[in-house]
Amino acid sequence: MHAVIKGPGEDLTSALPLGYQNTIPGSITERGCAYCGAKHVIGTPMKDVIHLSHGPIGCTYDTWQTKRYISDNDNFQLKYTFASDMQEKHVVFGATKLLKDNIKEAFRAFPHMKRMTIYQTCASALIGDDINAIAAEVMEEMPDVDIFVCNSPGFKGPSQSGGHHTINIAWLKDKVGTFETEITSDYVINYVGEYNIQGDQDVMHNYFRRMGIQVLSTFTGNGSYDDLRGMHRAHLNVLECARSAEYICNELGVKYGIPRLDIDGFGFEPLSNSLRKVGLFFGIEDPAQAIIDEETARWKPELDWYKERLKGKKVCLWPGGSKLWHWAHVIHEEMGVDVISVYTKFGHQQDMEKGIARCEEGALAIDDPKELEGLEIMLKLKPDIIFTGKRPGEVAKKIRVSYLNAHAYHNGPWKGYEGWVRFAHDIYNAIYSPIHQLAFVDISKEEIPTDKGFVTQRMLSDATLSEDVVSSTRLRRYTGKYDCVPDYANATHPSFEGLPVAVE
Ligand code: SF4
Repeated sequence: MHAVIKGPGEDLTSALPLGYQNTIPGSITERGCAYCGAKHVIGTPMKDVIHLSHGPIGCTYDTWQTKRYISDNDNFQLKYTFASDMQEKHVVFGATKLLKDNIKEAFRAFPHMKRMTIYQTCASALIGDDINAIAAEVMEEMPDVDIFVCNSPGFKGPSQSGGHHTINIAWLKDKVGTFETEITSDYVINYVGEYNIQGDQDVMHNYFRRMGIQVLSTFTGNGSYDDLRGMHRAHLNVLECARSAEYICNELGVKYGIPRLDIDGFGFEPLSNSLRKVGLFFGIEDPAQAIIDEETARWKPELDWYKERLKGKKVCLWPGGSKLWHWAHVIHEEMGVDVISVYTKFGHQQDMEKGIARCEEGALAIDDPKELEGLEIMLKLKPDIIFTGKRPGEVAKKIRVSYLNAHAYHNGPWKGYEGWVRFAHDIYNAIYSPIHQLAFVDISKEEIPTDKGFVTQRMLSDATLSEDVVSSTRLRRYTGKYDCVPDYANATHPSFEGLPVAVE
């Protein structure tokens, strides 16, 4: 019931696999819990904040090495992990005193940090600790600090998606409208559902700033706690990941009348359309078109170099939720690869519907596959590469399938025109890595040939290409810097006053 194959002319509405169901107990799911969705996905990218989990230390596992949402304050939120470290005795006798001591200790240890988020976990929820009351007591005693509480224990919902919803609504209810951010432009947006994975946010901000737009807040990558309290002052919510953050956009519309505009930073065509839409909303189409023309001219020859070499490669597109449909069509169109399977870990049926509509006929769509199912699919379909998280990714490596981390990336950013080329570059490197030549040799039985030289990527990728393509002077490999983010983040732009005025 949770897997279908896309047949010719299939009525997708009746062929959708079940989605967003409770995981079957005993199976090894790849999902995260609702606490994980609230904290690790949405809360923690906020940069100037002490993020404290009220629960056992184990709940904070998914922090240091797994996330790559960088920030411009020396990655404070990635470097430090805080937990109240509940033990059995606290489960029996309560842990509110422990929590209060922990909050104060954390503020003492980092005196320049005046903002904190506290996340409930299964253990503190089950014993009924009143975290909101403790936070209020501390704010009374320490008037210069502000604390946000998110009550989203792991068991609250089938997957991390339940936590996305809870923290969206809690932030809107408790914090939006409590801070007045300075407005410096006639065009003011909240950039919502963007988590600054390896600098995605810096790239997109650069485009917006070149259009004269003030990005009042980013929810939440590289986002500032106080800027996010001021979200109510924006003119437009520009929404990137609809799966994780449409809730706050919709409620900002209801409560403050701010419209929602869905965009897509992945792929030349979707990104160009997105910049045009934002430009159209404010009446600043010309600066948007200038960016599109300039960036396309700069990066398209490099994208096409990879497209020639990736044509027909088989991909299992197995991300978490929205990348399923953000990528399914455009990687085929712009990189030439064929999507032979799609899956979601925490997506809802709408995500599956959009993903299936955009992938190739014959593709296998599956919701929340277990580890054994994932293995079975890879062995049957024999993909050239899979895009997924690190848990199924490590399994793929064991059966010699190349894998790219769809959540945290390899050499991101992957958003923006240059980012999209970097994604193609990562796919190329993974598929044509010469290591695969050796990986398929069973050294317990087979001889490693010593009479041949080392095979390079180009020897592998160019073997069947025409001479015209190989010697093309238009096409070229990626020529950007190894770390391209500082150039985007530190670029200077004309002040708003110096930019074209919107058409009334
Ligand atoms: S399911 Fe509960 S105990 Fe497990 S990580 Fe999530 S919050 Fe912690």
